[in-house]
Amino acid sequence: MSDVRNVIIIGSGPAGYTAAVYSARAELKPLVFEGSVTAGGALMNTTDVENFPGFPDGIMGPDLMDNLRKQAERFGAELVADDVLEVDLAANPKVIKTHSETYYAKSVILAMGSGYRELGLPNEKRLSGRGVSWCATCDGFFFRNKDIVVVGGGDTAMEEATFLTRFGRMVTVVHRRGELRASKIMQDRAFANDKIRFVWDSEVTDVLGADRVEAVKLRNLKTGEESELATDALFIAIGHDPRTELVKGQIDLDDDGYVKVSAPTTETNIDGVFAAGDVVDHIYRQAITAAGTGCSASLDSERWLATND
Ligand code: FAD
Repeated sequence: MSDVRNVIIIGSGPAGYTAAVYSARAELKPLVFEGSVTAGGALMNTTDVENFPGFPDGIMGPDLMDNLRKQAERFGAELVADDVLEVDLAANPKVIKTHSETYYAKSVILAMGSGYRELGLPNEKRLSGRGVSWCATCDGFFFRNKDIVVVGGGDTAMEEATFLTRFGRMVTVVHRRGELRASKIMQDRAFANDKIRFVWDSEVTDVLGADRVEAVKLRNLKTGEESELATDALFIAIGHDPRTELVKGQIDLDDDGYVKVSAPTTETNIDGVFAAGDVVDHIYRQAITAAGTGCSASLDSERWLATND
């Protein structure tokens, strides 16, 4: 069989590119599938990243990803701006297909990330990174003494709202129903916090602002009444979906669809297949943790190749 790669990496976020840097420096000549539309991953949709170590003045998300990409290329990683559409991970060698080509690899690193659920508002994408956020840990700091709206009614929404009271003047939780889905302990914590107030039975129908978020439009689902609420930020906390369609039925996933690994390693249940970043992680979901596990996945695959090649 012609050209069997040592390692193919699927995904181009901090996890995929970091795995590529390590695998390239180990002379494994990794092949990286970056995706056809969103090369660079989730940080391409944001502005300032202030919590990635090594950048005392912060860095713009797309610049950080461009740096990571160049670093991987510098050591010889081969980058392909295409989507992987099909895999056979049980085969030997493993098979990876795009719309036009078939590739073969001894080992595979899965780093497809996860997608934050969007509300689908007309101005949501335009104001992303300009007051619209999906991550309180990442962006809460930018809203000191500001007004914040959080959408969602589950544990994550309550956790985000409670965390955001450290910064915000007032945090308003907008929820579609008249009660929360969150666990009792998270609800009690939120109800006891006098910086959190609730707008019940309501949905956000748009987010408004020229360059930054200035207000949200609300509709009361019981009365149909429409209103505007001035705010500096909209945090969307309605869940996220791991991008695991590609490997469903081939690899062990948890109940929420994330790839299972035998932590602290990045080994999946299939020999020679490793997984890193947000496709595995539903707890931390940070660029640095994705990069960290990307490093681990590269080292795990390198060791696996050394004993199984
Ligand atoms: P991702 O970054 O999601 O990258 C995965 C990539 O793989 C994507 O480009 C995707 O298109 C590609 N891919 C998926 N499937 C395929 C396929 N079949 N074929 C080819 N390619 C594929 N974290 C911080 O630490 N600090 C922040 O300030 C911060 N701000 C954020 C702001 C926003 C708006 C968002 C959405 C997230 C933010 N995060 C931040 C979280 C951080 O971006 C993620 O934790 C991190 O990007 C996860 O990295 P990853 O490599 O696992 O996946």
